Amino acid sequence: MVPCDGAGKEVVPEAVKVLRAAGADFEFEELDINADAYLRDGVPIPADAWKKLAAADAILFGAVGDPRVPDPNYLAGVLLRLRFELDLYVNLRPAKLYDDRLSPLRREERRHIDLMVVRENTEGAYVGMGGRFKKGTADEVAIQEDVNTHLGVMRIIEHAFQIAKNEVVMVDKSNAMTFAGGLWQERWKDVARAHPAIKTRHLFVDAAAMQLVKDPSQFDVIVTSNLFGDVLSDLTAELVGGMGIAPSANINPKTGRGLFEPVHGTAPDIAGKGLVNPIGAILSAGMMVQHLGHHEMASAIEGAVESAIRAGECTRDVGGNLSTSQAGDAVVKRLRD
Ligand code: ATP
Repeated sequence: MVPCDGAGKEVVPEAVKVLRAAGADFEFEELDINADAYLRDGVPIPADAWKKLAAADAILFGAVGDPRVPDPNYLAGVLLRLRFELDLYVNLRPAKLYDDRLSPLRREERRHIDLMVVRENTEGAYVGMGGRFKKGTADEVAIQEDVNTHLGVMRIIEHAFQIAKNEVVMVDKSNAMTFAGGLWQERWKDVARAHPAIKTRHLFVDAAAMQLVKDPSQFDVIVTSNLFGDVLSDLTAELVGGMGIAPSANINPKTGRGLFEPVHGTAPDIAGKGLVNPIGAILSAGMMVQHLGHHEMASAIEGAVESAIRAGECTRDVGGNLSTSQAGDAVVKRLRD
């Protein structure tokens, strides 16, 4: 467990509470990786903690970031290091509507939302390559590289086909970003050819954003790059109730390594006041047990969450009036019933 900072410190204990109530017979160990430790020791992840993370069956993560640490090396040294060095190349961000009242869409027939954003998690615009030349002058040049590899693009598209039941939609911007887009298009066609039973569709990212708002019920699996997946998955989260309930999994299907975390960040505006919704973290723990092969436990957790949300036994952001820990208890109660 790496609760880390802000809202993460409040939601991870709720997820663990739910896992225990669901009967998870795991050994839990909490690691002291957070902004306080970084300010004290100057190291994002100490060597002994790294060894434990690299050896763990799964990592349950909260959120990283602190206004006292503007240094980008902290974020890069914690979450990006874990994603990159454990090669967690698949970022799964599901969006499922558990109750009609959480949808911002007017038309009822468009509210059957149950989709998955499959985001490439180890390359693209987030690799930190580039630089700033003549920094701070009127002649400054800033270059941020977008890295796309044959292997990286192929394996993420392949994973999308592995999990799709009906259709895979590939999203890129190959009309404007022709080099990276060309590679995505070629790998997409290759991999799609090997999966004739699954329908395929391609959308440019601007059209995908428009279609997601217009009628999200048309989507099953969307596969895309690191940057586009980051943006579109915030949009899909809002379509089903907001950041408070959006879960995610960062996995390497080949090695079995996995890190599970809510999509939201540290939410400094509400952290520490008992207002943070623990559902995103609880559903991430559900994805964790699913990944570890405990399918019934995963369904039980999701069912308990859905029932608590429908009953309005949840935090304010999703229409209830419970505190963070009461909202966790509402899920626990349903698992025990
Ligand atoms: P960070 O800089 O760590 O990403 P942030 O505030 O910029 O933090 P998020 O933490 O993703 O980004 O949150 C955006 C907004 O969504 C928050 O200001 C908060 O109001 C709301 N929010 C985020 N997480 C939750 C949550 N678990 N429960 C309720 N509201 C949340």
